[in-house]
Amino acid sequence: MDRPTGSERQSRPSELLVVSPLREWNCAGCGGTGELLLMEDAGPICMHCADLDHLVFLAAGDAALTRRARQASRLSAVVVRFSRGRRRYERQGILVEEQAIERAERECLADADARARQRERAAVRREAEDIEFHERMAHEIERLYPGCPGKRAESIARHAGRRGSGRVGRSAAGRALDPGAIALAVIASVRHEDTHYDELLMAGTDRAGARDEVRPEVDRILDRWRGKQTEA
Ligand SMILES: [Zn+2]
Repeated sequence: MDRPTGSERQSRPSELLVVSPLREWNCAGCGGTGELLLMEDAGPICMHCADLDHLVFLAAGDAALTRRARQASRLSAVVVRFSRGRRRYERQGILVEEQAIERAERECLADADARARQRERAAVRREAEDIEFHERMAHEIERLYPGCPGKRAESIARHAGRRGSGRVGRSAAGRALDPGAIALAVIASVRHEDTHYDELLMAGTDRAGARDEVRPEVDRILDRWRGKQTEA
C-alpha cells in the first residue's frame, strides 16, 4: 500500500487526506472496496465507513472555485494520488458537500458579473472623457484659428485626440491642448487635405521635399484661418 508521507500530513494538520489508490484494496472496516480510501491506524477504510460518502469530488484546476467550495463546506477532504513517475503524492482535487460547490459556483459567477459591470462602467467613463477632450480641443482650434470651419476643427480634434485620449491619460491630453501641439495637428490636416502633399508622396517625393513644396500653400491657408474671414 502506498502511503502518504508523514511530512505531507504534517504540512496541513487540519486537512483530511483521502487517497485514490493505485492497487486493489479492501476496507478494514467492512471488507468492501471503492475508488477512494482513508488511511487509519487499522488500515485503509472506505468512504462509507469514514462517513465521507456524502461528499462529492471537485477536480483541481480552478483555484478560486476550490477555495470557496472548501470554505463553504462543513466537512472536506483533499484527494491525492501517488505518481510513480514523480515519486510523490499529487493533489487531484477535493471532496466537499454538493451545496458547497453550488454556492462556490454562484459566488464565482457573481464575481465575473461584477467584473464585467466594472469594465462596462470604465468604458463609459473613458468614452465621456474622450468626448469632453475632443470638444475642448475643437474649441481651442477655433479659438486659435477663427477662420477654420467648425466641422473641420471637430474632425482635426477627433483625429488628433485619439492619441491624447483614454489610455494615454490626462497629462498627455493636457499636453495635446498646448498651442504648439494644436498647430502641428492643424498643419498635418491642412497638408493632407488641402494640398497635393499626399500625391507628392505617392509619386515618390521624399517627405522633406514634399513638405517644402506645399509649405507656401499651407501657410496661406493658416494665415486665412488665423484671420477672421471664413474659408471661401
Ligand atoms: Zn468500509
